[in-house]
Order: sequence, then structure tokens, then C-alpha cells
Amino acid sequence: MRIVELLDQIRPIWIERVSRQLARGESVRESFAEQLAEYFEMMQQAIITGDPSWLNKVLDGWAEARTETELEKQEASLSPILDKILTSTHEILSESLDSRDALDVLGAVLPLYSYAFERTNQRETKLHVDHVSKELEDARFSLERLDKSKSDFIAVAAHELKTPLTLIEGYAAMLRDQFPTHNQDSPTLLLIKGVDNGTRRLREIVDDMIDVSMLDNNLLRMSFQPVWVNQLLTMIRRELVDPLRERKQTLKIVEFEGINEMTFGDSERLYQALRNLLTNAIKYTPDGGLITVDGRILSGFVEISIADTGIGINLDDQERIFEKFGRLGNVALHSSGKIKFKGGGPGLGLPITKGIIEAHGGAIWVESDGYDEVQCPGATFHVLLPIRKEPPDQRAAEIFRPLADAGLTTPIFNEPVENPAFRGED
Ligand code: ADP
Repeated sequence: MRIVELLDQIRPIWIERVSRQLARGESVRESFAEQLAEYFEMMQQAIITGDPSWLNKVLDGWAEARTETELEKQEASLSPILDKILTSTHEILSESLDSRDALDVLGAVLPLYSYAFERTNQRETKLHVDHVSKELEDARFSLERLDKSKSDFIAVAAHELKTPLTLIEGYAAMLRDQFPTHNQDSPTLLLIKGVDNGTRRLREIVDDMIDVSMLDNNLLRMSFQPVWVNQLLTMIRRELVDPLRERKQTLKIVEFEGINEMTFGDSERLYQALRNLLTNAIKYTPDGGLITVDGRILSGFVEISIADTGIGINLDDQERIFEKFGRLGNVALHSSGKIKFKGGGPGLGLPITKGIIEAHGGAIWVESDGYDEVQCPGATFHVLLPIRKEPPDQRAAEIFRPLADAGLTTPIFNEPVENPAFRGED
């Protein structure tokens, strides 16, 4: 074949010049010259057979020989090399052959170069994608490991804190018992009450830490029994009388359709979840604000909304706050006051609340126009709770069957909800 013979004529000079141009250092040049010789040979085979895939092995070898640094730079490094090879080929052809022969050879090799460009581009893109995917996978793995260490740390710290805490609680109780009941104003008793308050707050934080580690390890179990939202809200409202009075805030519980609906749920956990939301509403609303609990029935669900007139939450943060330690703001300004204005806690309340609601098959989300401590756009937390007429587990179903048979659908304990508003200081 004429083209192949013509190529044979330029072969030694082609290998010598291209390797000199592209490789620095004697030893590198030698090994590169061998690769170029193979490339040249494959190019001839491709021309003879009309099949450019003869070039694949050499091209793929070049693509795969790229270093990590080259991959990190994410730039195509083979295209410039192929560019130089093509330019040199063109130069050598016009120097060594007459113009007709040179044109014929060029016509035969050009499609092979287009093929080589395309193939190396594809390989390089794939290598980049693989490299980036591997980096992402490594990052995900490190994050998972970090999250696991964080979770392990919380679990260990919580359990380690529990024992000394129980001791302090016990000794404080023993000290308190030493004081006769008529001597309630004794200065020492006031000191003991201070210790009591501190340990109670610490107990709440430790309990939250334990809950979060149980959530992380899928150990948070719900114990289903009949629950009435009305009953839960009434109990929480009682618990919050003092904080509301202290912060001069108004809690309004609207008697919405569904407030008296019976559903199977874990009453203690639901109580905890709703109390977290109401405590947050108090914490993140300035003195004198209004907190409104409303809701509605949707098909198969009851929706409870807790709206406040507080500082609100930025759109970007509205998902993050449900993550562990998703507390916002400056940690240095952190105060663990339970109801103090903006007195952020450890940032565990909302993840636990979300975990509890989701363990009931429900959902929770927040709506707010943004964060503004002056305008106070407020925030509304929505809780969607499935209405279950049967507990999900068989054992609980057996226990509560008589209740269902008796057609008991109204709360056993049903204190009327004050409407339109309940004022904390009343
Ligand atoms: P914390 O212990 O910090 O209160 P939470 O998990 O209960 O932790 O809440 C996480 C963060 O979400 C809080 O630090 C606060 O920035 C924000 N947040 C929660 N509830 C409200 C609310 N009602 N209004 C404004 N911000 C809120």
C-alpha cells in the first residue's frame, strides 16, 4: 500500500523529532520513543485495515498514565500532546515528501487524528468523572466517620454524665429533706433550690443527648397508646404558665377541627415534641409576643401549627435547624437558659422533635419569611400527624381493644381549651 510505504519513509525521523519535542531527559525520551513507535505502527495498521480502533491500546495507555496531580487540575493534557504530534507530522511530511504524496498521507492520517482526539477526550472525561466520584466518595466516608465519632461521643458523654448527675440530685434531695417544711425561706434552702434548678437543666440536656444518640442508632422506640392533641396541649400549657408569665407572652390555642381527635401515638414523646416547639416559640419571640397553636384535619392526618411573632428563621437555615447541633447564631453568645430570649440550647431539640414525629409516620417543617430581630416576621412550625385508629403493633392493639370496643373517641382527660387566648400572667 502506497500510503503505508510513504509512512515507512518518514518513520525514523518522525519518532526522533516527536520524542525530542515532547519528552525531556534521555531516559524518558527513550521510553517515549518506544511508545511513539507503537503508535506509528498502529496508525499504519489502522490505515491498512480501515479500522481506527487499532490506536485504542496506545491512546488508552496514555490516558491512564495521568498522575493524580494532573487529574486534580482537571485539564485535558492529552489533546495538546496530540496537537503537537499532528503539527510535527505535518512539518515532516512537507519536508520529506513531495507535495502530492504529503497531501495523500495527510488525507489518510487526519481522520485517525480526529478519532484519537475524540477517544482521548472521552477517556479523559471518564477519568475525571471517576476521579471526582472517588473524591466525593472519600469525602462522604470521612463525613460519615466524623458523624459516627460525634454520635459515639454524645452517647459516651451522656452516659458518663448520668452517674455523677444522679449523685448530685440524690445529695441535694437529702440536704433538702433536712429542712423542716415551715422553714422554706432559709438562705441555705435557696442555695439548694439553685442546685436543683441547675441539675434539672443538666438532666434535660443529658436526656436530649441520650435521645439523639438513640435516634442516630435507630433505637428510639415508640410506645403507642390513645392520644388526644387537646390533652397534650392542655398539659404543656400548664407547664409553661411560669415561662409565659415571665416573658409576658400570650399563648392562644385555637379549638381547631381535629384537636379532640383520638389517635394512637406515644403520648410522652409527642408531649416532648410539642413542648420543644412551644418552648422554642417562647425562646425566640421577644417579650410580649403572641404564640398561636392552630390546626386542621386533612385526609388521614391532623396538622398542628405553632406560630410565633418572633425573630424568624432565614430561608437557608430552615432545613439545617432540624439537623443535630443545627443551632444558629454565635456559639459565644450561647446561653442555655431554658426560656431566655434567644437563649439557644445545644441544638438538639428540633432533631429530636423531627425524629419523634417521623417515628409516628408524620412530618415536620417550618415556614418563615426570614430572620429579622427588629421586624420579627415570626416562624410557623407545622406538624403533620397521621390519625391512627389502631396501634401499629399487635400487642398494643390487644391491650387497647376494649377501649375501641367501647367506642371511646373523646379524651379521658379533657380540660376545655381557653379561647380566644390564654394569657400567661393570668
Ligand atoms: P436550641 O437548643 O438551640 O433551641 P433547637 O434544635 O430547638 O435547638 O433549635 C435549633 C435552632 O433553630 C435554634 O438554635 C434557633 O436558631 C432555631 N429556632 C428554633 N425554633 C425557632 C423559632 N420558633 N423561631 C426562630 N428560630 C428558631
